[in-house]
Amino acid sequence: MKTLNTESIRKQFPLIYNKADELIYFDSAATMQKSQAVINRIKTFYEGENANVNRGIYSLSEKASAMYEDARITVQKFIGAKHAHEIVFTKGATESINFIVQAFLANNLLENDEVIISEMEHHSNIVPWQILCEKHKAHLRIIPVNEAGELELESLELLISKRTKLIAITHVSNVLGTINPVEEIIDIAHQHNIPILLDGAQAAPHVSIDVSQLNCDFYVFSSHKIGGPLGAGVLYINEKWHDQVEPYQFGGDMIETVSFDKTTFRKSPQKFEAGTPNIVGAIGLAEAINFIQKTGADLIHQHERSLADYFLEKSQAIDSLKFLAKPSKHVPLFSFNLGNIHPHDLSSCLAEKGIAVRAGHHCAMPLLKRFKVPAVVRVSLAFYNTKAEIDHFFKTLTQIKDFFSQHDI
Ligand code: PMP
Repeated sequence: MKTLNTESIRKQFPLIYNKADELIYFDSAATMQKSQAVINRIKTFYEGENANVNRGIYSLSEKASAMYEDARITVQKFIGAKHAHEIVFTKGATESINFIVQAFLANNLLENDEVIISEMEHHSNIVPWQILCEKHKAHLRIIPVNEAGELELESLELLISKRTKLIAITHVSNVLGTINPVEEIIDIAHQHNIPILLDGAQAAPHVSIDVSQLNCDFYVFSSHKIGGPLGAGVLYINEKWHDQVEPYQFGGDMIETVSFDKTTFRKSPQKFEAGTPNIVGAIGLAEAINFIQKTGADLIHQHERSLADYFLEKSQAIDSLKFLAKPSKHVPLFSFNLGNIHPHDLSSCLAEKGIAVRAGHHCAMPLLKRFKVPAVVRVSLAFYNTKAEIDHFFKTLTQIKDFFSQHDI
């Protein structure tokens, strides 16, 4: 069976390769490191290709416009969208969610209407809906999470009512790693004619996405979590909603004609992209997607699954390591605590030994409250990580645990 050549992969991520002796990077869910290919693509653009899009009839601008639209097609194919004009470039998952909140739901939400989200959402997929509901005197309804860290799907049918205007769910949890049964959730939503938004910020790096097959209405993700540049992201808007979603911002590029009496808009995607877009962000994102495709998404996912299995296997040797939950379908991302050691202490001890993990509430305070813990340590892996790094991590974790118990801390 073919496996991923991690040695060759690591050489292509300068920060990973150059710091291999001093750093184990286990925080890819926060942001993924960038390949040399992505870095070079950005450099090449600024060195020899920089021009604004849609504006010039000189070759540099025409080329920049073509590259920007090619990036849209790359994203379209990556997530299986039927049309390139269903892809809107934003500055990230957060902006994409706020976009739908303000440019779509705000126009439809009446007093006592309802929006369903879940207990495992990132704050980005809670707060925008919550604030809108407050303003419109509408209500948020929450799908609970069970002890295994999975959604209690039975509750969804009970939560849905004639007043449900939208369901917004994470595809993959950024704290538990749970891969949610989104096909089933979309089916239920559509049986009731409710549109659904999927937050794919943590899914895009680890699972294959096919928005057409899923038949979802809105799908969002961030470029930086799949190895693309920061400050770029994607909002997929299913064509059937293009007339109901208003422009999120108004200004240049998105208009057809402007007079002081009336302004008319272009069609999607221009209608949804006012002003100069993040051209190099889109082109860099396309390069990150090309990197994944050239490497082989299947090989990447297979390697990540083997890393996740290995991590769980090694964790069994440490009794005091308690996972927040152990969902059956998950990506290589784990949240846990170690005995009574405060997660911030644990992460600083790991940092001293050159291991970068994250500790805290991970922008999911309601989820941590549900599990009655204020904070957890999170390890999140990417395809440039190795089993040798996991071995080193557990060796270090054991030393820290022993140190704390010897000193009775
Ligand atoms: N949703 C989830 C599940 C996330 O993990 C994140 C990032 N941590 C976001 C949304 C927000 O992404 P960004 O900060 O890139 O907009």
